[in-house]
Parts: sequence; structure tokens; C-alpha cells
Amino acid sequence: MNESVIQERKQPRSSNSLQPIKGNRGAPIMGPSNPTREAENPDVLVPPDTDHGTLANLRWSSADSHMHLSPGGWGRQTTVRELPASPEVAGVNMRLTPGGVREMHWHKAAEWAYMIKGRARITAIDQNGCAFQDDVGEGDLWYFPEGIPHSIQGLPPDGTEFLLVFDDGNFSEEETFLLSDWLAHTPKEVLAKNFGVPVSAFDHIPEKDLWIFQAEVPGPLEADRVAGAGPVPHTFSHRMLAQEPIRMKGGTVRITDSSLFKASKTIAAALVEVEPGYMRELHWHTNVDEWQYYLSGEARMTVFASQNNARTFNFQAGDIGSVPFPMGHYIENIGTTTLRFLEIFRSDYFADVSLAQWLKFTPHALVRAHLNIDESVLAKIPTAKTPVVGG
Ligand code: MN
Ligand code: MN
Repeated sequence: MNESVIQERKQPRSSNSLQPIKGNRGAPIMGPSNPTREAENPDVLVPPDTDHGTLANLRWSSADSHMHLSPGGWGRQTTVRELPASPEVAGVNMRLTPGGVREMHWHKAAEWAYMIKGRARITAIDQNGCAFQDDVGEGDLWYFPEGIPHSIQGLPPDGTEFLLVFDDGNFSEEETFLLSDWLAHTPKEVLAKNFGVPVSAFDHIPEKDLWIFQAEVPGPLEADRVAGAGPVPHTFSHRMLAQEPIRMKGGTVRITDSSLFKASKTIAAALVEVEPGYMRELHWHTNVDEWQYYLSGEARMTVFASQNNARTFNFQAGDIGSVPFPMGHYIENIGTTTLRFLEIFRSDYFADVSLAQWLKFTPHALVRAHLNIDESVLAKIPTAKTPVVGG
């Protein structure tokens, strides 16, 4: 994308807003249009000439997700219902005020999370009564296996916002097993018998579920500690930002899968930072679909689907992207600030194949016979995998 297009898309609605025109092709839009959205998606309005075919939509904006508001916070989800091309993974963007609680619950899917802002206290127990409590901050992860009960609470001063990822595209944050919901649907004499107390002990339980509710800000973690039957065998939290990244000219990559974060058996992730002008190299993944969450910056991605099919999409903060297994793709920073995004996989391991490394490590005469390129192109490829390139 050239400089004038970058400038143009930042301008408000005007007669010279971005139009579907390229050289002698196209014409200005005469009918209804949405210049703001068109400017956010310049490579959709004026696709690269290499795009072709009927590849499904692979982008969703959190701004288009239904917002579930509650005292104490909110949640908005992106599932296979919002993004049909992504059946393996669903995501929920959630906010909790200081003291705000995502109530004690469990569900069928495993839950992985990335802390976007603020601080939170998380709790869980496992099937052996081993207990877990931790305070997490920006760049921290958690993972709760399927069926394991847990809670999340916002901490001072600002509460928290985070991304939840579930290993099932059909997941619904509205269909979880809530503590208050269960007790409201159990005869009180049964509750009394279960706990060995009088029925009157349950006179004031909620009549319906809480989901997210406002509570008092909790005290220090040490004061909140419960030992349980011991600690969980593999901790449910991980400090992803504390990992030393793979550093390259133009970016960094942190990869977290079950080799580092042992509890995380079904979700692997990479946190990628790409400086302006650089890009995540041409590659594909050998195991599963990729599900992306854009944290900051502006990007474009072209997905190659074989059979003459390729389509380009634009992304900005809060967007979700999807790359069906095992389609080729790159992600280019087309903005003026650092591009940061998460690559997420329903797998216990991260795996990608680099196009450059494939060419480098195949007999060069054979590669040259395919592409009619000069040996100098192959000579320039480093032997070490370089996930971020360009500049
Ligand atoms: Mn949950
Ligand atoms: Mn990828």
C-alpha cells in the first residue's frame, strides 16, 4: 500500500475518500456506502491484483460482537456463529471492574486466557481437590482444563480486561455452569442435606444466576490463600511477557505451548510484535487452524487457499482473524506503530513451515527450475528461521 492510500484512509468522509479505483479499472461509489468501514479495509475495497476466487470471510471485529453488560463488567464473544470459517476456536473479550467477579463456574471447553490490561485474581480447584489461586497482570496467561471450576475477579486500581480462548468454536459464554444457577435450581432441602445445615441457611441465595457481578475488592493474595489438598500439579498461570522472545530486526516472537506452559494441553500461542514496514514472513502451519487476536497496530494478511484462491483482509486492534489449516499466509504491518497480535492454535504444540527456509533447504537447482529466480535470491535467505522479515 502506498503512502497516499495510508493518508487517505485516515481522513474523515469526504468527496475524495478511498474509492474502488485502480488505474483504468473501477469507478467511484454512487450508491450507499460506509466510508469509515471502507477506509478501515483498503485491501478489501481495492484488492491486490493477486487476489482471486471465493475464499470465505476470515475477519471479524469485536466491535460487531454482542455486548453482554452486567454490574461489575461485560463480555463479548466471537464464535463460529460470528466467524463460520473458524470452527476450532472461540474467543471472549471480557472486562471486570475492581472487585467485579466472573462468577464461580465451569464448562465443557478448556479455557486459555491472555491478560490485556490491569490485574485479576483467578482461582480454581482440580478433581483431586488441589487448589490454585494467583494474581495475574498484563501479558500473563491462564489455562483451565475442561470441566475444572474457576473464577476471575478484577483487582484495583482499574480492574482488568482480558481475552478468553476456548478450544471449541461452538462455545458460548452464555451456556456455562454457574454456581448461583445450580443452587437456584436445586431444592433447598437437598442443599440443607448436602451441607448438613438447616434449610434456612439458604434463605438468601440468589434467585437467578449472577454471571458477572460487583463484589468488594479482595484483600492481598496471601490473605486469600486456601491450601486445598495441595497445589495443582501444573500451575494454571504463566508469565508469557516474561519469556525471552526470539528477537529479529523488525520484531519479536514469543511462543508458548505445552513444552513451556505444561497445563496448556489444548492451546498453543505465539505473541508477535512487528515494527512498521516489516512483516510476519510467508508461512503455514502443519497441525491446525490459526485463530488471531489483534492487540495493536494495523495489518493486512493475504491467505492462499490453493486452487487459484487467495484473499486479502485488513486488521486493527480488537479484530479477530482466521487462517484455515494449512493455508499459506503473511501478516504485514501497514501502519505507523508496532503491530502486536496473538496467533492461537487448538494444539499442544506450535508448528510452522517457513517458505524461505523451504526454498533454502531444497536443492537450489530444483528451486530455480520452478521459479526462474536468480541464485542471489536463495543466497540471501538466512539458514535460521526468521519469523519477522522486511524493512
Ligand atoms: Mn470460564
Ligand atoms: Mn501463521
